[in-house]
This record gives sequence, structure tokens and C-alpha cells, in this order.
Amino acid sequence: MRIIPISIPTPFYIGPVNVYLIAEDPITLIDTGPKTKEAAEALRDGLRQAGFLASDIRRIVLTHAHEDHCGLARSLRDQAKDAEVFVHDWETGHRAGRLEHEENRSLLARAGLPDNEIEGMRRMYEGVRKYADSLEEHEYSSLRDGAQLEFSSGTLQVVHTPGHTPGSCSFLREADRTIFAGDCVLKRITPNPILSPDPIDKSRRFRSLAEYLVSLARLRSFAPTLVHGGHGEPINDFEELFNRYLRAIQQRQAEVIGLLPRGGATAWEVARKMFPGTDDVHRFLAVSEAAAHLDLAQSEGKIALEMSGAKEVYRPLE
Ligand SMILES: [Zn+2]
Ligand SMILES: [Zn+2]
Repeated sequence: MRIIPISIPTPFYIGPVNVYLIAEDPITLIDTGPKTKEAAEALRDGLRQAGFLASDIRRIVLTHAHEDHCGLARSLRDQAKDAEVFVHDWETGHRAGRLEHEENRSLLARAGLPDNEIEGMRRMYEGVRKYADSLEEHEYSSLRDGAQLEFSSGTLQVVHTPGHTPGSCSFLREADRTIFAGDCVLKRITPNPILSPDPIDKSRRFRSLAEYLVSLARLRSFAPTLVHGGHGEPINDFEELFNRYLRAIQQRQAEVIGLLPRGGATAWEVARKMFPGTDDVHRFLAVSEAAAHLDLAQSEGKIALEMSGAKEVYRPLE
């Protein structure tokens, strides 16, 4: 299978994003880069160097619907005369533009964010949304766990790996146990499970970290020899990375539990203690991280959770 990685610049803190051209029939692109002029040019150059035009692409497969990964999907689809776009159904919230929804507002309020912070985050996301076009229901096909993406010389198996987002998917080439993992597995950073509504019951928060641990174990069960992540270099030693992630998660959980005062605290208060100097999008990432760890600790019976008015308050056990 001819796999050609193309590095695409993004306006985001994370830096460039990796997209992958599978130069086999049907010509397929895994992720697209954000909707910026620079990204569109880098993608066009990368394709040209590999001997292709955007119009040659027949299939666009999205690991998840964050703007840096999906931003150009729609315009590519149009240039390629209706290339088929695939994304998991659980990415709906992201596809349709996150924080404008009431459920996201109430999610943040329950996590303890004051109104002005919620408003600030909504404004920030309005800025981020311009880096992706949304896709209408009839403009994409659903990725389903276990489905096979067929190529002239083999297949990629869809592996639903929720955690970073509810609908994150990885793609496994069984022949040599190569995996495309999007933001589920990144070489230099522990991926952040992002605060999102549960795709099945939108009034609940998605249990991102618990899901993420299951996804990591599932990827491990394939004994991957090579993992292509959404950012940074490929990973040759998945076992080392898996153990490093688990240690990082355990340490962070202990830290989060240690930050809970006797009287309890919201995820927002814990996030502010944990990352006092953060600004902008990092405040959202910080509260995402705090909530994810608090939820996991609570589900493991290590801390208690109760409602205080409309807010969730986590307390240390007596
Ligand atoms: Zn992402
Ligand atoms: Zn990313």
C-alpha cells in the first residue's frame, strides 16, 4: 500500500497536522487539514509531488471532526466532483459547530464555569469554526466500527476509538499491523480528551477518559508495529507509549484528587488550580482535562460527586 504523509500547516498551537494520501484505487485521503489558504496550498503541493491532483481524490476519510483535520473536506469533495466523505456519526456535535448548542452551554455550566467564561469560550469557538466548513447530513457517509475500506491492494479496517472525541476512528492495515490513529495516539503529548456531550444522551457529559482507556487497550490488542498519528512523527514502539500514557494518566489522577478541598470543588475550580496561568483555548483544554480525570476517579469510586444547585461538585471520600 503506497502511503504518502503530507504535513499541513495549521493556525493552531499544536502545529502542523499530518494527512495521509493512500495512492491506490480508489485514491484516498485520511484527514485534510484546516480551511486556510496555506493549508490548501500545502495540500496541493503535496499531492502534486506524489503525482496527483485534488480532483483525483475519490474518498476522504476523517479520523475526527476537529477543524485541523476536517477543515478542507468539503472544498476537496467539491473539487474532486463528489468524492465520498466518511466520518463517524458521533462526530455530529463537532461537525455542526460545538459550543453554540444549548447542551454545550449547560455542560460548561455544570462543570462550574461562570457565565463570562462560557461566553468567552463561545466567542473563541466562533473564531475557530471558520477553519472548517460544516457537512450536511447527505454529504457524508458514516464510518462504522469493523467496516473495511477496500483498496485495489488490500483493506483498512475501521476501528472506532472514542476518547479524544466521541467519534474518533483509527484505521488498521492488518497485513503489517500499521495503524492510522488521528489524535488518539500522538508521539510527544498525551492527547487531551475534549469536553463534549455524550452522543447518545446529550444532557450528559461524554465519559471521555474511561472511553479513551478502552480505545488505547483496543489498539494495543492489535500489537501495532507502526502508528501514524495526527501530529508529529510515527510511533514504532507502541508498548512504550502505552505505558507512558498510563503512567501520565495515573499521575494526573492523583494530582487532581489531591487538589480537592474537603468541601469539594467543581471541575472548573480544579482546572484553575492545576493550570493557574492558562489563557484562551487552554482554559477550555484545562477544564476538559480536569473533568475527564474527575469523572474517571469518581467512576472508580475514589471520590464522590454531588450536585450543588446546577453545578457538579466533587468531594474527597471521608
Ligand atoms: Zn483533535
Ligand atoms: Zn489534531
